[in-house]
Amino acid sequence: MDTKNLGFNSKLIHAGDFHDEFGSAVTPIYQTSTFAFRNAQHGADLFAGKEKGFIYTRIGNPTIEALENKLAELENGCGGIALSSGMAAVTTVYMAFLGQGEHIVCTSAVYGPSRGVLESHFAKFGVQSTFVDSSNLKEIEDAIRPNTKLLYLETPANPTIALTDIKKASEIAHKHGIIVVVDNTFCSPYLQKPLDLGADVALHSLTKFINGHADIVGGALVAKDTAIYQKLRKTMVYMGGNMDPHQAYMVIRGVKTLSLRIDRAQENSMKVAEYLEKHPKVAWVKYPGLKSFQQYQLAKEQMKGPGAMISFELKGGYDAGVTLMNNVHLALLAVSLGGVESLIQHPASMTHAGLPKEARLQADITDGLIRYAVGIENVEDIIADLDHALAKI
Ligand SMILES: *Cc1c(COP(=O)(O)O)cnc(C)c1O
Repeated sequence: MDTKNLGFNSKLIHAGDFHDEFGSAVTPIYQTSTFAFRNAQHGADLFAGKEKGFIYTRIGNPTIEALENKLAELENGCGGIALSSGMAAVTTVYMAFLGQGEHIVCTSAVYGPSRGVLESHFAKFGVQSTFVDSSNLKEIEDAIRPNTKLLYLETPANPTIALTDIKKASEIAHKHGIIVVVDNTFCSPYLQKPLDLGADVALHSLTKFINGHADIVGGALVAKDTAIYQKLRKTMVYMGGNMDPHQAYMVIRGVKTLSLRIDRAQENSMKVAEYLEKHPKVAWVKYPGLKSFQQYQLAKEQMKGPGAMISFELKGGYDAGVTLMNNVHLALLAVSLGGVESLIQHPASMTHAGLPKEARLQADITDGLIRYAVGIENVEDIIADLDHALAKI
């Protein structure tokens, strides 16, 4: 079926999916590492690209390809690549577009390992990187050098929830012939379409909203044009960051309810954010759906909805954060986001506990900062859980 002209919800269900000779209702799992050729000529034609088909699962597999085609349609791209993890997607992008002596400009508040791998491994190979507050377009422009090849953005960034104007940032980069990649994990294509806004590649940790059930780790890249797509695919095939067929099957299953899940999680998030904003023990709340949000206008223009991640600061600092963690019962104390269950995290005592306090504060990880990934439970239960725990501070 041609799904190109269907609406987004219909694409979630039907795009990329295929039915086998038995009329399977869903895309089957092809749990095989390799594919037999019919004869010598068939093998030769497959390798020469004269005939379409499958050779070896690292290069391509029907179940994985179904997911890749679905994601490409959802992001309005020309091709998708599924990978073993979000970080495999990140490193594949860096590998594909950065060489020795070349330079990348990157959002400073990106997902920690996306920055860490540049500072450790890619620096070792002579790649230069500059980290900027990309919500300030002038910082992007000022950081560009003659050898800059990549602009890597994450919006909303985490945990600052700072937004970058994808359209304007892409215009600046393209003036200089620079490729623009946007980590779209926090929004998913339901809420934000980076390629429509001018970016060249949309990147995902499928682990989060797209799979949505906290039961697999996966990543994806979707490119707007064929040359970039082919370069990324070749890099993935060489580096070996491919997805597994079973993993692909799980994501195909999970993504079908993406808009339903996000609708509910957003509805809950708005109520939780409003509750927190009025709470006397809370200093501030950052959520793109609140009128008080510093980039409320940009959020409205660039995102279809405010998402389901809330950052807030407790007046009581570090100790208040620890008390809150030890008294919530519904929300799981866990990193990650985008699942059906609510997750809560206190960066100062958990994810960023290993950082010296000064470095932590420089990254806006304050002592009382809490990151809440709102799930799809009954919102009264989420708020009652927080209310009970906040009362213990
Ligand atoms: C989780 C995450 C990643 C990394 O994805 P994995 O699937 O854990 O490898 C990258 N970017 C963002 C924004 C994330 O939240």
